[in-house]
Amino acid sequence: MLVSAPAPSIPLFHPEALMPSSPADQPKSDVITVRSPRDGTVLAEVAKTPVAEVAALADRAREAQAAWAALPVAERVQRVKSIRHRWAARGLELAQVLMKEGGKSEAEALTSEVLPSLNLFDYWCKAAPGFLARERVALDPLNFPKKKGFVDLEPLGLIALVTPWNYPSSIPLRALVPALLAGNAVLWKPSEFAPLTAQIVHDIFAPDLPPGLVALVQGDFAQGEAVIDARIDGVSFTGSAATGRKIAVRTAERLIPVSLELGGKNAAIVLDDADLDRASAGVVWGALANGGQNCAAVSRVYVTKGAAAEFEKRVRARLARVKSGPEAGEYFDVPPLINARQMERVAAQVDEAKGARTEALAPGGRQGDAGNWYAPAAFKDPGAGLAIVREETFGPAFTLTVVEDEAEAVQRANEGDYGLSASVWTRDLARGERVAKKLDVGTVTVNNTSFTPVITNAPWSGRRSSGHGTTNSHRALAEMVRARFILLDWNKGSEFWWFPHDESLVTLARGLLRFLTAGFSNKLAGLPAALKLLPARIKAISGPVV
Ligand code: NAD
Repeated sequence: MLVSAPAPSIPLFHPEALMPSSPADQPKSDVITVRSPRDGTVLAEVAKTPVAEVAALADRAREAQAAWAALPVAERVQRVKSIRHRWAARGLELAQVLMKEGGKSEAEALTSEVLPSLNLFDYWCKAAPGFLARERVALDPLNFPKKKGFVDLEPLGLIALVTPWNYPSSIPLRALVPALLAGNAVLWKPSEFAPLTAQIVHDIFAPDLPPGLVALVQGDFAQGEAVIDARIDGVSFTGSAATGRKIAVRTAERLIPVSLELGGKNAAIVLDDADLDRASAGVVWGALANGGQNCAAVSRVYVTKGAAAEFEKRVRARLARVKSGPEAGEYFDVPPLINARQMERVAAQVDEAKGARTEALAPGGRQGDAGNWYAPAAFKDPGAGLAIVREETFGPAFTLTVVEDEAEAVQRANEGDYGLSASVWTRDLARGERVAKKLDVGTVTVNNTSFTPVITNAPWSGRRSSGHGTTNSHRALAEMVRARFILLDWNKGSEFWWFPHDESLVTLARGLLRFLTAGFSNKLAGLPAALKLLPARIKAISGPVV
C-alpha cells in the first residue's frame, strides 16, 4: 500500500479528474510529504486535492446523496455490512499503514483502531434502523382531537467531516458509518498527517457506495477551509479547540450545524481507598498510550495525601518499566510523536517545568537521533501557572499533585478550560459515583480511564473548550439528521382557537385556565360562564363561510 515518492494521489471514484497531468508538474505545495515518525524517512507523497476542485466534489456528493437517501435503510445497512467485511479482511493491512504512517505499535493499531471498529459497524447496522424508524407522537385526544402525528428523521444532506491524525481510522469511522446509514453524503478532509490511512479507509468504503458519495479531500488547512466553505449541510469536526473555534465562526453566518469534538486536559483523582496497583497501572497507561496523543489521555493526576506516598512509589516503578525509544524494539509501549512540531510542543512544556525546578518522576527528553521519539515525562506538584498544567500536552507527559482531600481533588480537577473526561479511583463505587457527578466533563470512568470512545453505544462528548459534539450512540446520530414532524388531521370545520377571537373564546379560555390552576374548591367556578358561551363559540367556528 505504501508507495515511495513521488506517488499518487488523490482519491477516488474519478481520480483522473483530479490528478495532475504528472506528479512532476506539481509544485511541492501541492503535495503532502509523508514522513515516518520512527525514523523520518519519506514514505510517500500524496497529491493534495486542488482547492478549486472541492466545490465540484461537493456538488457530485450531493447528487449521489439524493439516490442514496432514497434507498430503504435495510439496503444501506447491507452496503455497510459489506464494507465491514472488507474492513475485517484488510485489517492487518490497515494496521501496517497505521504503524508506518502514525508510528503506532501493532498492539495500539489493532486494539484501538482495527478491532473496536468491527464492533462499531455491528452496533450501527443493528441499531440504526430502529433509530431512524418513523416515530408516532402521542397526541392527547381531548386537546387535539382527530389528529395523529409522526416524526421522520431525514439526513442532513452533505456532511463535511474534518478529522485529526491521532486515531486516523477509528475517529472518521465513528462519523462515517452513522452518517451514511442515515442517508448522508460525506465530504471528508482527513489530517494532512494521515493521508495514507485516509486513502485505505476510503478504498474500503468506496466499492459499496455510489460514486462520489464519500469524497476524499486530501490536504491541510486550506483544503479544510474549502470543505467548510463548500455547499454543505453540517460539519462533523474532531481536532483542536483552536481549529474548532475557527470552524464554528466560519459556519455561523450560514447557520450550518457544527458538531465539535475538541481537546482535553483530563484529570485522574486517586482517593485514599483506591486499589493503588490498579490505579497506578491505569493512570500510566492512560497517560502514555499512543504517546499521550489522545484527547482522553490522563494529563493531571490528583492523589489524596493518605495514598500519595504509596501511589507515587507505584507510579515510579511503572514508569521505569515503560518501553519507549528506537531501542525498544518491536513491542514498545510509547510510540514516537507524529511529527517534529508535536515534539517541540511537548518539549517546550517539559522544559518549562524543569526550568521551574519541578520534581520529575520521569525526565522526558528526546530519544535517538532520527524520528520523533520522546521519553515519558512526569512531574510532581507542578506550579499552577505552568503550561503542562493548563494546556493540552498531547504527548507522553503528565503531572502528579498531592491534595488534601476529595473536595480539593474535585476542585482542582474542574480547573481549566477543558471538560472532556476524568477518572476517579476508589474501592467504594458509590463514592466514585458521587465524585463523578461533581466533575464538569462529558465522561467519568470510575476505576478505569481513557478507553470509552470505543463503546459505541455510550455517548462521547465534551463541555466548554472540549466542544459540544457527541460521538457514538443515538445521540451522535441525532446530529446527522433533522426531524420533520407531520401532523394529519381529519377534523371538519374550524379549531376553537381559530378566528373569530371574540368574547366566547376569551370566556372559554378564562374558564379553562381557572379549571387548570385553581384549588379543588374553586376549580368549577369559571365553568358556568364558559359553558354558557360554548354554543356561541361552536356556532362561531362551525359551518361554511359562504
Ligand atoms: P487540528 O485542529 O490541528 O486539525 C484537525 C483537522 O482540521 C485536520 O484535518 C486539519 O487539516 C484541519 N484544519 C486545520 N485548520 C483548519 C481550518 N482553518 N479549517 C478547516 N480545517 C482545518 O488537530 P490535530 O492536531 O489534527 O488533532 C489533535 C487535536 O484533536 C487535539 O487537540 C485532540 O485533543 C483533538 N482530538 C479530539 C478528540 C475528541 O473526541 N474530542 C479526538 C481526537 C483528537
